Amino acid sequence: MGVKRFRRDPGERYRLDDFDPSDNGGIESKNAGRRYLKDLQGRLNELQQVLYAEGKHSILIILQAMDCAGKDGTIRHALSSFDPQGASVTSFKVPTEEERAHDFLWRIHKAVPRQGQIAIFNRSHYEEVLVVRVKGLKPEETWRGYYDHINAFEKLLTDSGVTLLKFFLHISPQEQAERLRERQERPDKQWKFRPGDLEDRGLWPQYMEAYEEALSRCNTPRAPWFVIPADRKWYRNVAVSEVLIETLEGLNMGYPKPVVNIQDYKISPVF
Ligand code: AMP
Ligand code: MG
Repeated sequence: MGVKRFRRDPGERYRLDDFDPSDNGGIESKNAGRRYLKDLQGRLNELQQVLYAEGKHSILIILQAMDCAGKDGTIRHALSSFDPQGASVTSFKVPTEEERAHDFLWRIHKAVPRQGQIAIFNRSHYEEVLVVRVKGLKPEETWRGYYDHINAFEKLLTDSGVTLLKFFLHISPQEQAERLRERQERPDKQWKFRPGDLEDRGLWPQYMEAYEEALSRCNTPRAPWFVIPADRKWYRNVAVSEVLIETLEGLNMGYPKPVVNIQDYKISPVF
């Protein structure tokens, strides 16, 4: 199945109710899904090696989601096939004093990948039209202006050879409740529990409205938004991997030609 079903055409409106968070892409079992994911990871690894060797393109992967939807898990599983030398992960937290003293894209721009590299953003500049909007952290006239700034910024990046992929990990409120309960109960997960997560959960409809507007207004052919079904962790990983593979294959990359006439060089026997 094509990855087109995870997105909308530019200019079209995203309605999150139209996307089923528990979609399994027709893959019947978790085990079959996991086996398939292994194949996808192998292919991703090959593609990243060419990306790195060719050093022409760079890839920026943005992950946005409600708490517990699996941003960390996606990085750990779907994106673990990357060679660490060619990849980076940046997590964007509440802005520091220094970050707040600059424009909202300052800290983002610094983390954009150089050629040949893949960068993964755990949260991003989109927080400025999500949490900032929903919690009223800045006046409306300020964040209202951000959609245009984001589109202009992303155009600068794509014009400069960055391929942008933006993923909204779409979890249902029921599944989030399950995972929050797990965070309360399991000693190895309790460190992730934040009372603020419950506050955000109480603002679910407002967040969905903010997401719908961000996705609808900032979805361009070269910086598309994908809505990834995230109630099943294994399928979330499969879906993200499929999008990445299709995108990387579309770049028609190749290993660079040798810099010298290789046959002219004789490798001497051992001394
Ligand atoms: P976590 O990703 O769970 O470690 O949490 C990071 C927190 O930082 C989340 O609650 C985000 O909403 C918050 N955050 C990230 N970026 C911003 C921003 N630009 N303004 C305000 N809060 C932010
Ligand atoms: Mg939170």
